[in-house]
Order: sequence, then C-alpha cells, then structure tokens
Amino acid sequence: MIIVLRKDVTPEQKQETRKFLENHGFKVREIVGEQDTIFGAVGRLTIDTREVEILPGVDRVIPISKPYKLASRELKKEDSIINIGPVRVGGGRIAVVAGPCAVESLEQMRETAEKVREAGAVMLRGGAFKPRTSPYSFQGLEEEGLKILKQVGEEFEMPVVSEIVGTEYAELMKDYVDVLQVGARNMQNFELLKKLGKIGKAVVLKRGLSATIEEWLMAAEYLMAHGNDNVILCERGIRTFETYTRNTLDISAIPVVRKLSHLPILVDPSHGTGLRGKVSPMALAAIAAGADGLMVEVHPHPDQALSDGPQSLYPDQFERLMRDIEAIAPVLEKELERTPRKRRTGLSDYRAASGNEVLSGPASSDRTAPEKTGLIAFQGMRGAYSETAVHRFFGEEYQAVPCEKFEDVFKQVLQGQVDYGTVPIENSLAGTVHEVLDLLLQYPDVIVVGEQKIRIIHSLMAVPGAEIQGLKRVYSHPQGLAQCSRFFEEHPSIERVPFFDTAGAVAHVAEQKDLSLGAIAGYEASRVYDVEILKEGIENNPRNYTRFFIIARTETAPIHSPNRAALVFSTRDKPGALFDVLKVLADNGLNMKKLESRPIQGRPWNYMFLVAVDMPESQDILDGTIVEIKKTAGDVRVLGLYYSHGD
Ligand code: PEP
Ligand code: MN
Repeated sequence: MIIVLRKDVTPEQKQETRKFLENHGFKVREIVGEQDTIFGAVGRLTIDTREVEILPGVDRVIPISKPYKLASRELKKEDSIINIGPVRVGGGRIAVVAGPCAVESLEQMRETAEKVREAGAVMLRGGAFKPRTSPYSFQGLEEEGLKILKQVGEEFEMPVVSEIVGTEYAELMKDYVDVLQVGARNMQNFELLKKLGKIGKAVVLKRGLSATIEEWLMAAEYLMAHGNDNVILCERGIRTFETYTRNTLDISAIPVVRKLSHLPILVDPSHGTGLRGKVSPMALAAIAAGADGLMVEVHPHPDQALSDGPQSLYPDQFERLMRDIEAIAPVLEKELERTPRKRRTGLSDYRAASGNEVLSGPASSDRTAPEKTGLIAFQGMRGAYSETAVHRFFGEEYQAVPCEKFEDVFKQVLQGQVDYGTVPIENSLAGTVHEVLDLLLQYPDVIVVGEQKIRIIHSLMAVPGAEIQGLKRVYSHPQGLAQCSRFFEEHPSIERVPFFDTAGAVAHVAEQKDLSLGAIAGYEASRVYDVEILKEGIENNPRNYTRFFIIARTETAPIHSPNRAALVFSTRDKPGALFDVLKVLADNGLNMKKLESRPIQGRPWNYMFLVAVDMPESQDILDGTIVEIKKTAGDVRVLGLYYSHGD
C-alpha cells in the first residue's frame, strides 16, 4: 500500500509510522516526490488500513492493485532515473548502450569503444560469459574478458554492462562492471534476482523469451523487494510463430510498461530481430514508441565476430542510427543522453592562449568543472518552460532558482549566487529574444557554456474535476494564447485572458479552485501546481521550439565538448564593413549558423553583430580568425564555446 504523509509530518511521526508498519511485517520504502513524501509498504496485509490512516503524520492510504508493488507506477508517479556514474537512464533522455555481443580482445573492444563513443553511445556492453544455445559455440573470455571490458570502459570514460549467468559470479563481477545484465534466459532465475537485489548494483533486466509483461515486472519486483531500486528493463524480443526474424520485437510493450511502471525501459533491437538490416528501423521505432534508450550490438568487423555477427551493426551504420535518433528526439520532447569526455580546450584556455587583449582571462587552472548538484537560475515562476530547460540540460539533481527578470539571472550568475543561468535566446516561431541578446552584450563577464533546445508543448490544465466543456475563461501568456488560437476557434465560448506568464497563469487557476477556469502552460507547471491536464499539445504548430543558452561566469568551462562558437563584434562605419568580417569567416572555412544585428546602446545607428559558427577542427583556426577579425572590426568578443544539440 501507499501511505501518503502529511506535508507537515515531523521526523518523529515518520519514524513512528515506519516502526508501526515494520512491526506488522511490512517492508517500507520512503519515496520523496515533487509534491508528496510517501511510504511504499509491501507485505501481507494483516491489519485494517484504517489503523494506518489514523496515525499522526499520515494523510491517506492508497492500496496498490497490481501484484508488483515497488515497480508499479501506482507507487511512484514520476519516472525513475537510474544513475550509473555520469550516465542517467530514464526521465526524458535517450541513453544508448553499444558494443559487441562478446568481448573478444583488447583491440576489438578499443576499436568498438572509440567508434561508438564518438557516435554518442554513453555505455559500453560486452559479454564475458556467454549463454550460447550450443555448448560448442564460443562461451566468452570469462574473467579475462571482464578485465578488458573494465580497462576499455575506463579509457573511454564509459560505464560498462555485462551479463551475469549465475549467482556464483556475483562477487567476481561486481568489481569489474557498472551494470549487471540479467539475460533473457535468466529472467526468472529467482535466486540470481535475490542475490542481485542484495548487491544493489544497477541491473539491466532483459525480458524472458516467453515472458508476459506481468512476469517480467514481477522479476523486477524480486530485485526491488530485495533492496535494489536500480533496475532498468530491456525489451529484446519474444518467441512467436514468426521465423523470419530471430525474435519478434514487442514494440507495444514499451508504452504498456511505461504506463504500468516507473522503471526505465531500454530496447535491444539486435536480439529483437537477429538481422543487421532490421536493427536501425526497429531502433527508431522503439525510440518513437517511448523507449528510454537502446542496447545495440556493434562490432568493428561483424563478419569476423565470434558471436552474433549477423545482427551486429558496422560502426558507420551505428553512427547513422545515432544521427537519426538525434533528429527525432526533439519531436518526442527528449534529449540524447551525453556524457562529457576529456574536455577539449575550454574558453578560458583559449583566451589565455590567444594573447589577444580582448580575450584575456583567467588561467585554465581556474576553470570550474560542473558539480553534480548546484543552483541554476531561470527567469519566470516555478513550472515555466525555462525550468523544463534547466532540468533537461542539467538533470533533476540540480535546483532551479526562479528569478523575476532576465537581468536578475545575469546578476545572480555574476555574483556567484548560482552556478549557472538558463535564458531563452530564440523561439522558432517568435524569433530572437532581444532582451536576452542585449544582456549578453551588456554583461561581458558572462559567457555561454551550453545550449538546450526544448519543444514547446502547450497543455490546457485546470483544477481536478474540471472539464473542457465547463471552462469559461483560460489564462496564459499572450504568446501562449496566440499559439493555441485554433483551440479557441473550436471552443468559441471560452474567453482568452492574457496573463504575465504561463506558469503564473497555472498558479492563479490552482489558487482560485474554480472549475470554470483553465490555463495554458507546459507539462512541468501541472506538476508544480498540482492541477490536471485536460488536453495536451493544443498548439497550432507542433514545430515550436525554444533554444536556451546556459550562461556562467567567464572562468567556467564548457559543459560538453563544444561544437559551436558565438562571437560578437562591432563594425567600422565604412562600405563593406560587415562583408569584410564575414569574408574572414568564409576564408577560414567557418560555417555560419546565425547572424543577428543589434543597435549599440548610446550610439544611435551603430550596430553590434552576433555570429554563431560551427567549431572548426582545431582551436588554432578559431584563434587565427579572431585575430584577423580584430584587424577589420571595431571590437570582438567570444561570447562562448558550447555544445549545441543540432538545429
Ligand atoms: C546479449 O545481450 O548478448 C544476450 C545474450 O541477450 P539476451 O539475454 O536478450 O538473449
Ligand atoms: Mn548477443
């Protein structure tokens, strides 16, 4: 059952409630959600739930109807995010695990790791103990294989995944791998599940060859009931009458599991199809269906693979697949999970190295690497789209700090009250946010260290119990109202009421508790203000994106390896002044992604230009370009080197 604790519960009351439940034979798990703190109590129900309900500190008791309890969405509404070193699996990200079926040699693993890492995989797989159908097939390199896997994982800064085939290997494997894989053939090896439950290391639990979804979730429950919450499910195809493919990949299991469970789900299209040519289409289908990531077999020379060669992708096929995933991710409001590798030179090194006075700055030793926890300022109220951008870029561990004005975000960053700021720079429908651009020009000690694009999905929300038919007035930011004009045309009796911001409109409606009032905002606001979504995605144009800049103090390093550079410069008042600068960019082979002009404050009819370019192959090219621009332009400043997730 779920015990929802009162908001004002004291630590003593919590302790008393836990004791009461444990004395009655329940295993108790505390789950701190955004809104409520709850206890999940699992065990045989030997008491009247009303006895729990009357305990001080308890708000209400809700029974869990499913046989799997800890794994169920009823217990935990939010997606679980499993942290494996720097990698996060679940919650709006797409994490890709890649590597060969079996570890064969150090060279093979290095070659694979280099290619898949470059293409965007965040974890490396490789079997050291192979449960082969035939006893005469290659059985794996065993401990030698684990050593290779660990070494290569460390070299390429990728956590590693490998299959455990029996309880007797648990002690050996736990020091070599970051994630233990339970194979399809072992999904119901309950002794193994119990053991892995106790060890607590993250587990990828493959679906059994003939397992129902419920049996699969019950296997996850075994792991969780024995103390391990770090469970990642993996759909890998089931046995059907069809023989064309090795298995039948059950794509529909993805939305089913996502509804039933809060656990993340990966999809393995390699075992799911057994055919190289079918892997990428099924991988894309899995992502489109809502999978939290993929596990894909990749081999540098599949024709020579000792295991599963016919279903292993060539590295360049994998690279193409990753590019396709990146292209469809924004439509799904998702982000490819990336983990920074050895950083390329940061902005401060660049400044120190250039010897150009405009670019002088602190030495590279002053660089601050991003911490795992920290404060990020954004403009707007809690639940604003900017807050979604914060969480999407940094993850849930970071705390988003609301600020009233854009300028406050800049000030908080400069004064060190926060580690980073997140500000919108451009919307695909409304254009550049000029106020933010002007602030970037005004505050030379603030730089851009990252970029995040999110899809703007407007949802209609209201207090619980309200229905669209009963709505009389709907509040939102004027832009939100305008972008949903078609909805209002279809519902002419609803009055549109402009509000200063979208999340503020939701807060207002939540406060009024009036069933005839609605608000339009992003999904995040419905969670913050505890209102219900009546209709999702009511915007006229679904191709509505906003790009946010992540800003920081000048000494801060870029967060991911930069692929973009943004510069600002002013031009002299002479014919061809802008052309001269752009020619320097062209002559140096720099591909321009954006060009924007802004009036210089206090100097009527003089302009600053902002230009964003693809990061050239070498830092020296950018360095040389800046020096050349300096000769022809009035003033040049590097606004930042940052990673942009495509356009
Ligand atoms: C594997 O991942 O290499 C494997 C053997 O998978 P499954 O257990 O899904 O067959
Ligand atoms: Mn395999």
